[in-house]
Amino acid sequence: MTALLEVEDLRVAYGKIEAVKGISFSVEAGQVVTLIGTNGAGKTTTLRTLSGLLRPIGGRILFDGKPLEKVPAHKIVALGLAHSPEGRHIFPRLTIEENLKLGAYLRKDAEGIAKDIQRAYDLFPILGERKKQAAGTLSGGEQQMLAMGRALMSQPKLLMLDEPSMGLSPIMMQKIMQTIVELKASGTTILLVEQNAQAALSLADQGHVMEIGKIVLSGPGQELLHDESVRKAYLGED
Ligand code: ATP
Repeated sequence: MTALLEVEDLRVAYGKIEAVKGISFSVEAGQVVTLIGTNGAGKTTTLRTLSGLLRPIGGRILFDGKPLEKVPAHKIVALGLAHSPEGRHIFPRLTIEENLKLGAYLRKDAEGIAKDIQRAYDLFPILGERKKQAAGTLSGGEQQMLAMGRALMSQPKLLMLDEPSMGLSPIMMQKIMQTIVELKASGTTILLVEQNAQAALSLADQGHVMEIGKIVLSGPGQELLHDESVRKAYLGED
């Protein structure tokens, strides 16, 4: 079986600085795969390249069997790859409901859109309670929920989440992680970038540890969670 996403020897540079130095990994349909690693390891750069916001200088990206390296970002969304970026990027002056609708801008099925908006409210009840309010009034964690809800509105085959736990309280973080588990249970395929290695590895089928542009260790989430070098480097153990 071919994977939904196959990344092969991917290289990405900012000018002369190579931020991603030949990484390879794949995501099978139905899996949660996580990229973990410290600041500057190249995780965000990888996601931005997969969504067409940056162009690789080398390597291959196959999504659903199609090469993506030259496909423009808006077409990549249409192919079924959605990105919930780091820092949320919601539209603060638009209402919560309007933000969700924007996530469905490529769809024409009004009924399906209404159903998926309701699904976002079921996943995150606070969004439903405040649907007519400006999104900028939401807390950081709630904005993160909105960003995830919005990415889901394109009915993606693959949902990419960039540090969904960033800046969240432990309770909010737990809620986001629990939602990722629920999304997986409902069949959503997820590529998760996280600095919180413990949380990400606990729920991932497969994990990859990135260090300065390279993948230095890969394995099932549970295996990495118990790997001594990972525990020392990323889980703060002696
Ligand atoms: P973080 O968790 O801090 O976001 P990351 O693993 O996502 O880290 P990237 O943001 O992908 O890392 O950054 C990888 C490297 O590329 C870093 O050394 C960073 O300084 C550099 N970099 C990122 N964006 C740019 C840019 N626009 N111009 C130049 N260098 C950049």
